[in-house]
Amino acid sequence: MQSEKVIIIGAGPCGLSTGIELKRKGFDPLLIEKENVANSLYYYPTHQTFFSSAEKLEIGQIPFISERQKPVRNEALTYYRTVAQRSELRINTYERVMKVEKQGDSYTLQTKTKNDEEKTYHANYLVIATGYYDHPNSLNVKGQSLPHVYHYFKEAHPYFNQNVVVIGGKNSAVDAALELEKAGAHVTVLYRGSDYSPSVKPWILPNFESLVRHRKVQMEFDAEVDEITTDAVRYIVKGETKEVKADFVFAMIGYHPNQEFLTSVGIIIDSETGRPQFDDQSMETNVDQIYISGVIAAGYNNNEIFIENGRHHGERIANDIVNKETR
Ligand code: FAD
Ligand code: NAP
Repeated sequence: MQSEKVIIIGAGPCGLSTGIELKRKGFDPLLIEKENVANSLYYYPTHQTFFSSAEKLEIGQIPFISERQKPVRNEALTYYRTVAQRSELRINTYERVMKVEKQGDSYTLQTKTKNDEEKTYHANYLVIATGYYDHPNSLNVKGQSLPHVYHYFKEAHPYFNQNVVVIGGKNSAVDAALELEKAGAHVTVLYRGSDYSPSVKPWILPNFESLVRHRKVQMEFDAEVDEITTDAVRYIVKGETKEVKADFVFAMIGYHPNQEFLTSVGIIIDSETGRPQFDDQSMETNVDQIYISGVIAAGYNNNEIFIENGRHHGERIANDIVNKETR
């Protein structure tokens, strides 16, 4: 069994940032990542532009230089893998943490590599930085698991001249609808809200509103999806049942952290907000010496913690571990 002082689960921007802060304080944490660094960003839409400026995505005070006002996905992937390399972080990639168990005042982790090799680690401190992007929210309607229903949008080209329904009304839904329309898809957006969401980025909304006004995108507010069939989506607007043709459906309805994993290690989750119980100052959860870092701390709300603020969790965690070690 390999013994470590600190193990960080997840090498997204916030896991990496925590690793760098711990290194600065003299620790040499091991990061365990089920795929590769910045894996969630890899699964973003191929042509995604960030809403943050490059400076606000920086970790470990390592400059992220982009000539654009807002960087694009590929630049961010280059940035985070370069940071991982230059910081000389120890990262076990393609290794998934399957289970964590408390043993006295420390923890045992069971992992599985991509070759199905099982490994066991022992750690005094654990940081869970597993994000939310692997777990899309569920529509809870008939037909939601049909093969033409997706929760991730990559590129618009395959949908040229196809009837595409986008469900949701925040940034992923609006971004996908814009790209799909540009590529010649016949787009209908079904949103349960009564008006445009204030979460939609203000520089994106005018373009989208204009397409709706010119009927290039069909927008239905107050639309509650009722059923998805192989070629249509049935929905209800103020008591009236309606139907729209759909060759493809993008249910861009947000994501949530892996609550089962958190509860399995004893972390208490607020049933309404999905927020794990933790101390704001240290990011330590209700379970001693288990910390959370990044968007996982926001529970069900995808619009509260981003890279912009989640990147600062690592510093709090590193300070707390130093305090505990010097007590
Ligand atoms: P993640 O990046 O999700 O990292 C979690 C990591 O944990 C992943 O690499 C995953 O593979 C790994 N993992 C999960 N489970 C396990 C396991 N059991 N074992 C091992 N590894 C595991 N935020 C901004 O600040 N600015 C933006 O402009 C912005 N744009 C965005 C655009 C899109 C399309 C989306 C979806 C989000 C955007 N966000 C933005 C939000 C931001 O991307 C995420 O908040 C960010 O990825 C969070 O970082 P994280 O490190 O907390 O989690
Ligand atoms: P989100 O912000 O959680 O939005 C989900 C949308 O789906 C909301 O409009 C929500 O309705 C709706 N919804 C949720 N559950 C539903 C259900 N069961 N049935 C019908 N509709 C449902 O998710 P997101 O848009 O994917 O964004 C996720 C994260 O990525 C956010 O942090 C966002 O800022 C980020 N992002 C950034 C960019 C960018 O940088 N350009 C682009 C895309 C996404 P309500 O409005 O009523 O809540």
